[in-house]
Amino acid sequence: MNYTQELHAKDAQYVWHPFTQMGVYTKDEPIIIERGQGSYLYDTNGNKYLDGYASLWVNVHGHNNKKLNKAIKKQLNHIAHSTLLGSSNIPSIELAEKLVMMTPERLQKVFYSDTGSASVEIAIKMAYQYWKNIDRQQYANKNKFLTLHNGYHGDTIGSVSVGGIDSFHKIFKDLIFENIQIETPCLYKSHYTHEQEMLDSILSNIESILAERNDEIAGFILEPLIQGATGLFVHPQGFLKSVELLCRKYNVLLICDEVAVGFGRTGEMFACHHEDVQPDIMCLGKAITGGYLPLAATLTSQKIYDAFLSDCHGVNTFFHGHTYTGNQLVCSIALENIKLFEKDNLISHIQTTSQTLKHRLNKLKSHKNVGDVRGRGLMFGVELVKDKQSKEPLDISTVEIIVYTCKDHGLMIRNLENVITFVPILSMSKKEIKTMVKIFEKALHQTLSKK
Ligand SMILES: *Cc1c(COP(=O)(O)O)cnc(C)c1O
Repeated sequence: MNYTQELHAKDAQYVWHPFTQMGVYTKDEPIIIERGQGSYLYDTNGNKYLDGYASLWVNVHGHNNKKLNKAIKKQLNHIAHSTLLGSSNIPSIELAEKLVMMTPERLQKVFYSDTGSASVEIAIKMAYQYWKNIDRQQYANKNKFLTLHNGYHGDTIGSVSVGGIDSFHKIFKDLIFENIQIETPCLYKSHYTHEQEMLDSILSNIESILAERNDEIAGFILEPLIQGATGLFVHPQGFLKSVELLCRKYNVLLICDEVAVGFGRTGEMFACHHEDVQPDIMCLGKAITGGYLPLAATLTSQKIYDAFLSDCHGVNTFFHGHTYTGNQLVCSIALENIKLFEKDNLISHIQTTSQTLKHRLNKLKSHKNVGDVRGRGLMFGVELVKDKQSKEPLDISTVEIIVYTCKDHGLMIRNLENVITFVPILSMSKKEIKTMVKIFEKALHQTLSKK
């Protein structure tokens, strides 16, 4: 056995992979990554792959980035971790200030955690308790959340409860709490023919629910602009802004989950910036550390924060906190990540490369199996179908062959069912973006001409 084979055997013996049917996984010989450099990943056999999924939507400035490496090492020379329970530390203070400065003005306070799911869990508990702290009698029934069908907010019980994935809800139905679901505002996936008609109809449905049941609804949680993990469902322009106005009108908190779309992904630093939206609570994660270490944050307004204040320890306190909250290493790398955004003018780079990606992918629309191309910034999906008219999905087995063929040609990419996702490292050059689409196109033609 060579080194890679030995690792495969141990991987199959000891590791349970996330979101993975291990019965299938262990039959293959999956790629084992050894190192990364810039936009590329390298496996234990010395093969090189363009990182077209940004290592699951997190990587910003490329792998093995000198400045980010230096920031970690510098912090390590001081201390790796001390607790935020009853004491504080330097990077967590500096990062909180930075986050408050760069996010919408309404957001004034930062609550740290370590995964996107936790940041959502915190948002839900915060919103729920907020109403109770203000007036336990008047808001006794404000216990439910308005959500979007096909929403994804993480995998803990609370975050699954506010998610809109039917299969998850079916498995865990006895554990999750009820939410109120709104249909997905994405034209291609809807039964509407015109975007305006869809927008008007969905908004009027939201308004009638809010008008009737606002005394039961604590908050409206959604992924702003693009619902990522369930298949890149892009919302029409103005949807987010209208939701904000309706939430204000009916006294319901607006919770924007920017775990996927935050930090430049959609072509602005935050998705809320596109429509000048001021959420009451914002969840951040994924790219917050440039894709280096796990960190998440839940930001909230002065008004919500104030509702948790009292002179007595046990009264109105927010009883939530994770052991590694505000860890120095993760906060220092997040600070350097943000610094590099500014120094490298990354947002404007993304706006340029986004045009290249969009243009190249749109050219594939003429292919008989490409049903839809949608996205913003550096977050695009190509929906593969059997037939353009019926929109019937291409078989998953065929989609998977396309993904494997991409790997053979040196591109790491992922599919969400029959949607191939293009969510590259944000610093990727125009040339690398073009290479990414070229490899996909080649794999598409190779796979489908064989059929
Ligand atoms: C990934 C994701 C989460 C969950 O984050 P984890 O770090 O995987 O727990 C939550 N919300 C959105 C929108 C996401 O894309």
